Amino acid sequence: EAKNLGKNRYSLYTSDLLEGAKDEYRLETDLRKAVEQEEFVLHYQPQINPHTGKIFGVEALIRWQHPTLGLLSPDKFIKLAEDNGLINQIGKWVIKEACSQNKRWQDANYQPLKVSVNLSTQQFLTNDLVTYMENTLRETGLDPQYLVVEITEYMAMEYEYSLKVLKQLKKIGIGISIDDFGTGYSSLAYLNNFPIDFIKIDKSFVFEIVNDQPSAFIVKAIITLAHNLQMQVIAEGVETEEQLDFLINQQCDLVQGFHFSKPLSATEIEKTYLLCKNNEKRENTK
Ligand code: C2E
Ligand code: MG
Ligand code: MG
Ligand code: MG
Repeated sequence: EAKNLGKNRYSLYTSDLLEGAKDEYRLETDLRKAVEQEEFVLHYQPQINPHTGKIFGVEALIRWQHPTLGLLSPDKFIKLAEDNGLINQIGKWVIKEACSQNKRWQDANYQPLKVSVNLSTQQFLTNDLVTYMENTLRETGLDPQYLVVEITEYMAMEYEYSLKVLKQLKKIGIGISIDDFGTGYSSLAYLNNFPIDFIKIDKSFVFEIVNDQPSAFIVKAIITLAHNLQMQVIAEGVETEEQLDFLINQQCDLVQGFHFSKPLSATEIEKTYLLCKNNEKRENTK
């Protein structure tokens, strides 16, 4: 009996593995179709100035509207897309959509916002990235000062190459942000050689600032040092009032997190964050 049980367990296990492999294969096939049919959508998470309460910008975060599995978050497919090379096409779609949407908001007379897009490592290493961004800005008509790219510390490790690309982006007028700061091995001293506008403190530190002394010290130090290097600081993953108070006291420039809002559809952003400003503007122009 015990043997049988073992055998069954084993076959269950292998069939699980096979199922897993099949799922992966199916997802990859689906992802190819998704790229052709543009089954993606961008959600936008507000970035707030905590000192004024006003919206400063939004981070564009991709979702996949899978025909049967529903709305999939990036951790379900970005890794896969990096492995099979589809990330480049997906990344281009993201840039184009974010620029078009931001331009549509500006054309509708809403207050101007910066839109941030996440770049993948592969995308950052592709040689047509800068040209693509330049062309997309021209085609969509978005002023480059309203576009920001988020890269990770890890991507900046290839020194000469990163310096070249970041300087080109900077020259076009695109903002540069270091995402998930603190999780890699780089220091602000190292990053200071790059033309960086924003440092985003990783949410793992923000989660701990109220309960954990070391995290609080690290966050304080990052803010002070970044300010001395003329960079602005964005705290990501702000979930509670206590975290927010701490960040306001430490002069953190911008905050982003569920305490204010989860990522929202473009329409929800308009309704929740842009409508009243638009009315104000209309009033002002009277
Ligand atoms: P990220 O760039 O660090 O984005 C922040 C993630 O934290 C988002 O998850 C966001 O929904 C989540 N988040 C925001 N505020 C809070 C909070 O208060 N608490 C918690 N627990 N989470 C919060 P999301 O949208 O699932 O994205 C995950 C990651 O996927 C992103 O991390 C980014 O690395 C990647 N990603 C998203 N969109 C794109 C894209 O268009 N291209 C590429 N290459 N990567 C993307
Ligand atoms: Mg990001
Ligand atoms: Mg981040
Ligand atoms: Mg992150």
